Amino acid sequence: MNKQKLPVIEEFYSLQGEGFYMGSASYFVRLAGCDVGCHWCDSKPSWQIFVEQLTDVDDIIERAIKNPSKIVVITGGEPFIYDLSYLTSVLRSKKILTHIETCGSEKISGEWDWISFSPKKWSPPLSVFYNLANELKIVIQKESDFLWAEECKSKVNKSCKLFLQPEWTSFNKILPAIVEYIKKNTEWRISIQAHKFMKIQ
Ligand code: SF4
Repeated sequence: MNKQKLPVIEEFYSLQGEGFYMGSASYFVRLAGCDVGCHWCDSKPSWQIFVEQLTDVDDIIERAIKNPSKIVVITGGEPFIYDLSYLTSVLRSKKILTHIETCGSEKISGEWDWISFSPKKWSPPLSVFYNLANELKIVIQKESDFLWAEECKSKVNKSCKLFLQPEWTSFNKILPAIVEYIKKNTEWRISIQAHKFMKIQ
């Protein structure tokens, strides 16, 4: 039994909508807290932390392991605000794959099977994330964001999967540019937030 509590906004069982694991059933745990301030953030309610959100980590684990999927995705907010060592070591001991979605602005903790790294140019990430990222996911809102994508690509490890993701509110406007970009720069793939098209959580 561990006494750690984490601020949870929501937990839900759904399909991953983004990146390499798009379409895979996963249990999501969304933690509160982020000071990066992306103006297009689709998770703004996660910026603030409320005391009533504090949840026993053991209870999170108990709910997570009950699902048929063996993937748990820790998201936010920026989940590395917290020490995730206990959460991940117990999940892994129960043969659960630990995935995280991070912008890399905070110190890493825990043991991870998949790190989805989405760095923001206005909040430069810690360099360790370039080495450890399993996938690099760059949100593209305007054409100048391709420069940031290439800068990040030049720093990530060689086995890191590369994704360009249209920013949701600019989707129709920016999509043609992303398609043309990937046709010319074939190491990239597109990630389209499929859960939003499916209208699932
Ligand atoms: Fe939102 Fe993520 Fe940006 Fe934080 S880092 S503001 S949670 S998009």
